[in-house]
Amino acid sequence: MLIDIRTITRVPGTELAVSGTWTPRGLDLEGGDYVFSDPIRFEGILSSAGQGVLRLKGNLSASALGTCARCLAPVPMPLAVPVEETFRPGLGPDGTVADDPTEDPSFGYEGHLLDPAEALRTALLLALPGRVLCRDDCRGLCPVCGNDRNTTECDCLETQRNRLSPFRDLEKLP
Ligand SMILES: [Zn+2]
Ligand SMILES: [Zn+2]
Repeated sequence: MLIDIRTITRVPGTELAVSGTWTPRGLDLEGGDYVFSDPIRFEGILSSAGQGVLRLKGNLSASALGTCARCLAPVPMPLAVPVEETFRPGLGPDGTVADDPTEDPSFGYEGHLLDPAEALRTALLLALPGRVLCRDDCRGLCPVCGNDRNTTECDCLETQRNRLSPFRDLEKLP
């Protein structure tokens, strides 16, 4: 989705309502650790801060499936992500960090069309947790037999612990 920004770049302080939907493919979100559902929605405001600088503010909503780090079960994750990004003219559409390190990282646009996809993609990826659990006390998979220990008990770990015990021979003594 490209936003025609001609109406707001000329007059600082003017705003433009922005809303749209993207597919996971459209935001280049396929093939990662999370499987996103279609569509990914954004609603917000693009405002002109003068000298071609534009600020995008709004909310992304998406839902993704993560994978439990312990038992590998799929974990549905509704996502509501606040977005606040800055765009500057002539930085290139991929998003480039501004030269001045005191400045916020900025995204770019060229001409009178702005593509928010890269900025939205970045905001969404930053909002994802590094590690997902299906529940806080997930017991995970048995490292010996691969059994899901949340649903079925197995005594592999118990057996292994006994076998490794230095007292195992002593226990056999009469
Ligand atoms: Zn789990
Ligand atoms: Zn087991």
